[in-house]
Amino acid sequence: MNLFNYAMHVKSMSKLSWVNDALRELKETGRYVPIRVLETGQGAWVKIEGRSVLNLCSNNYLGYADHPEVKKAAIEAIEEYGVGAGAVRSIAGTNILHQKLEQVVAEFKHAEASLSFQGGLLANLGTLPVLAGKEDVVFSEELNHASIIDGLRLSGAKRYVYRHLDMNDLRNQLKEHRREGKRALIVTDGVFSMDGDIAPLKEIAELGEEFEAMVYVDDAHGEGVLGDHGRGIVDHFSLNGRVDIEMGTFSKAIGSMGGFVAGGAELIELLKQRARPFLFSSALNPGDVAAVIKSIELMKKDDAPLKKLWNNAALLKKGLQEAGFNTGKSKTPITPVMIGDEKKTVEMSVSLYKKEILASPIVYPTVPQGTARIRLMPSAVHTEEDIDMAVQAFRTAGKEISVPGVV
Ligand code: PMP
Repeated sequence: MNLFNYAMHVKSMSKLSWVNDALRELKETGRYVPIRVLETGQGAWVKIEGRSVLNLCSNNYLGYADHPEVKKAAIEAIEEYGVGAGAVRSIAGTNILHQKLEQVVAEFKHAEASLSFQGGLLANLGTLPVLAGKEDVVFSEELNHASIIDGLRLSGAKRYVYRHLDMNDLRNQLKEHRREGKRALIVTDGVFSMDGDIAPLKEIAELGEEFEAMVYVDDAHGEGVLGDHGRGIVDHFSLNGRVDIEMGTFSKAIGSMGGFVAGGAELIELLKQRARPFLFSSALNPGDVAAVIKSIELMKKDDAPLKKLWNNAALLKKGLQEAGFNTGKSKTPITPVMIGDEKKTVEMSVSLYKKEILASPIVYPTVPQGTARIRLMPSAVHTEEDIDMAVQAFRTAGKEISVPGVV
């Protein structure tokens, strides 16, 4: 490096010194998230730093991320269509596989049409600002996912947050504020990822009808988990046709990558003209698209993995409760093990890791202070022995760390 370049380097270093300050602050306040590197693909067991650990952290609910038929479909699509989509959808990026995917998703969701995005996050960021703008009003559930919050910020609509699962609060807010917007939109997660509880979607749909507000549900954790053959929360509550927009992801139960919205044909047509991730970011790759099509085909053909998932979840909850743990108010396979104290929760996760269990600690600010927990995600590919092993490890770690009630 010559003297001039060196001087420029020093200058730019000082310009960027805030980066180190920001990192230091994250570390000092315990909000720095170390990133674990997996040396294997997704599965019940994964390898980290050369050690095999039981994976209770992934959203691979049905095991499709590593399913032989899903992998084969992706490989065949790559052989036929290549690895990249080449362009944004509206220029030259729409392949017949995208068209097929959107037909398959619409049919699976009993909707008129669907549109795929490059991720669930992008589905929310792309769709919400089309549904609501500056002249409109949005009612958003308190525990909605970050991508909904960001999508609503981008929309510029006036926002009101209603309390978690509280239909009286939603009704009161609709009464008070509905008229402040030309259009109104109620937005909720279907399954809440930190607690595993479920939005009262029937009541929400009724309020939407009463107050003339569109209803939007993010079913990222309901897809493949709730409803007939995993069709999701709308099907679970028999609300087909009464929820205006169902949003979902292909990256959890469906095992691959991407997101979608399903709804009326005209709305999907409008999104193709207006949703910015559709217009300005390249399309999903052929291999991913083919994998999603195959996963949905498998879900429709056989719901044995869905049943296995629920069976494993029931075994896990029962075992943990018998050991004295509080598994919260989950109504889905998501299993929070409530510890309360932040430090104890992190210690618990470290102790479990030593016992070959990969289980994530969830602490403030992700959840309110004093409600720290270990969140477990059982799947269809775990065996009963895996679940037993997890319960035993929890029991031992719980005693070591003196979690109240653990026997
Ligand atoms: N919505 C919810 C409720 C989610 O949990 C997630 C994933 N964490 C997303 C949206 C984003 O989905 P994706 O990972 O496909 O971007």
